Amino acid sequence: MDINQEKDNEFDKALRPLKFSDFTGQESIIKNLKVFVEASNQRNDALDHTLFHGPPGLGKTTLAHILANELNVGLKVTSGPFIDEIHRLSPVIEEYLYSAMEDYKIDIMIESGPNARTVQLNLNPFTLVGATTRSGFLTNPMRERFAISNRLEHYQDELLSKIVERSSNILDLSTDSESCFEIARRSRGTPRISNSLLRRVRDFAQIKSDGKINLEITKYALSSLNVDKNGLDEMDNKILETIIEKYNGGPVGISTLSTSLSENSETIEEVYEPFLIQQGFIIRTPRGRQVTEKAYNHLGRNKNNQNNLFN
Ligand code: ADP
Repeated sequence: MDINQEKDNEFDKALRPLKFSDFTGQESIIKNLKVFVEASNQRNDALDHTLFHGPPGLGKTTLAHILANELNVGLKVTSGPFIDEIHRLSPVIEEYLYSAMEDYKIDIMIESGPNARTVQLNLNPFTLVGATTRSGFLTNPMRERFAISNRLEHYQDELLSKIVERSSNILDLSTDSESCFEIARRSRGTPRISNSLLRRVRDFAQIKSDGKINLEITKYALSSLNVDKNGLDEMDNKILETIIEKYNGGPVGISTLSTSLSENSETIEEVYEPFLIQQGFIIRTPRGRQVTEKAYNHLGRNKNNQNNLFN
């Protein structure tokens, strides 16, 4: 691990919410989880296995940690293994997990050849928390064993702005609400990106100014970092450009698009598309994906000229 990576991890740790009350957004998920946690704490029972899925950086790992904290594990005979990127498990491990998850039992094969036999181990009740960006890649039996399943959504700018304010308070930075909002607005709806932009803006403020973060230095920093005015990243823009240039704005099927972009279709569907749809750059139609007027405007293209090129 290099020094920067270590610093990033420390920074991440300091900013990671530890309780439901520190966690901003994802309101309906949190509301339900609070009920489930309180109920299982009251019954002194293990919480049902819980899955978090959705694009990267939205708080899945954070919520897994929060669950462990809020589950009051001191009082209960539960421990909480947490499996990140759960769709990558090998089939053999998955088989083991099925019986562990269902009956709190695990069958282990000992010795080999004619002496081979299985021994059954009983496990203490536990809650398995899984996180994945690719729920579509989970096998059906695995998915069905998670009684609680939550899809995290991208954050609205106002919520992200609160997260930036919280982070700058923790880091003891001098910011104002305009700067926090500007960072939030350009964070692709993603708290991890907000936190990392805040850190970069802090660097610019320290070196190019008096250390205070204001709107001017924030804009300067973000444009030096080539952050898109709407927070879209390179791949987001490439997706929009491809649909406009190669498919006349769409509709285009996901597999065709995936071939054009040399990116696998699940990544487009599960990592990029949700944000582009939420922000109104793309719509899903029965015949495929179609860009909206907003996408043309964003890329500085004229929809009608564009059509003429192809007609
Ligand atoms: P994921 O597991 O979905 O990729 P993480 O849980 O690792 O995402 O979150 C990335 C970072 O963003 C964390 O370090 C955390 O500080 C921050 N974060 C995520 N969600 C929130 C939230 N709702 N409120 C405050 N900070 C958040």
